[in-house]
Amino acid sequence: MENKALELDKKDPLAHFRSRFYIPENTIYVDGNSLGLLSVNAEKSLLRVLDEWKSLGIKGWLQGERPWFYFAEQIGEMAADLVGAGPGELIFTGTTTVNIHALVSTFYQPQGKRTKILADELNFPSDMYALQGQIRQKGLDPKKELLLTPSHDGYNLDEDTIVSMMTDDVALVYLPSVLYASGQLLDMARLTQEAHKRNIPIGFDCSHSAGAIPHQFSQWGVDFATFCSYKYLNGGPGCTAFLYVNQKHFDREPMTPGWFGFVKEKQFDMLPEFEHARHAGGWQISSPGVLGASTMEGSLQIINEAGIDAIREKSLRMTTFLKHLIREMLPGDHGGFTIITPEEDLCRGGHLALAHPEIALRVNEALKARGIVPDFRAPDIIRIAPVALYNTYHEIHQVATALKEILESKEYLQYENQRKPIS
Ligand SMILES: *Cc1c(COP(=O)(O)O)cnc(C)c1O
Repeated sequence: MENKALELDKKDPLAHFRSRFYIPENTIYVDGNSLGLLSVNAEKSLLRVLDEWKSLGIKGWLQGERPWFYFAEQIGEMAADLVGAGPGELIFTGTTTVNIHALVSTFYQPQGKRTKILADELNFPSDMYALQGQIRQKGLDPKKELLLTPSHDGYNLDEDTIVSMMTDDVALVYLPSVLYASGQLLDMARLTQEAHKRNIPIGFDCSHSAGAIPHQFSQWGVDFATFCSYKYLNGGPGCTAFLYVNQKHFDREPMTPGWFGFVKEKQFDMLPEFEHARHAGGWQISSPGVLGASTMEGSLQIINEAGIDAIREKSLRMTTFLKHLIREMLPGDHGGFTIITPEEDLCRGGHLALAHPEIALRVNEALKARGIVPDFRAPDIIRIAPVALYNTYHEIHQVATALKEILESKEYLQYENQRKPIS
């Protein structure tokens, strides 16, 4: 099997991208779904902007190589094809949770009988908190107005159940593209179509799919979306996020206005009444954090050069290979682990999730002690994300081998069942 891995690496058309990333020393890094790695291109664009600040001062807003004043719009354009956004539909701004507030405050307009937000019980906690807060902002009670699609197995969602809950009291549907724990990919095209049949606007959090999977927001007619840039988009810790608004909504009023959402040509007229830009940029709130955001330029160069379709193809091959190895090397009950990520390619994102009712945390610690970086999600999940741009099939083989050895030798017993603040 090791030979098979080496052979796959040799034939891999994306293999050369690895040398453009800084891989932490003596580490097999399979946590790119949580924090992607730094590339030389991202480092370069960051240092360039730092240098512009040094040499240009305030003139950088218009005289930077990529003028800071237009940075958010231009990076949005650079990323548009990744998610199938049309002109003006994508802007690089805010952070995921801030963008959820900015978007949901506009798109959640409870009226008459339609007062509820339909979400799911497995979404990322920050998304849940934001939705609860938005319901309270409208003077309503989240306990009554937030409908959560239940999971049948505690890990995944059933799309038919989601659709059956799109009833005539629902004012907005808000869902993740890929579930952060199990890695299930929802059929965004179908869910959008079903929501629209019932006249319900729909938005997605694509933090776990952007940069790993192609999207067609515009073609699918998605009303709005947001996604962070520090996972598969490799922007760096807390990097600026993206915000998508379908062009059919450009005239709608941003409900969390700020001066960077003003009509660009008139922003510096400093007028007292807000007049929003008629594109996704209208939802910007503050000055862009250009320094922290500057990595994205370099990072997108690499992703665009590789192409999102090629990235997706390799990512699926890698997770398939990992599944195959786990089944071969840990025959029978796979050491008590269950692969909870859906089996079909069309239903899974970029990582593989393994659940164990008792020892997931300890095994995760044992992997880390061996220089492998996956991550743990409470209460029982280990996530492994082989990233197309910088991981190798050989590394996947090493991860599977380590897992087998740890389980066979019971090496995990050396580690406590106690979580650190970030695992
Ligand atoms: C990563 C992630 C977030 C993170 O939110 P921040 O505001 O960037 O801290 C939120 N929601 C989902 C679904 C995520 O995957």
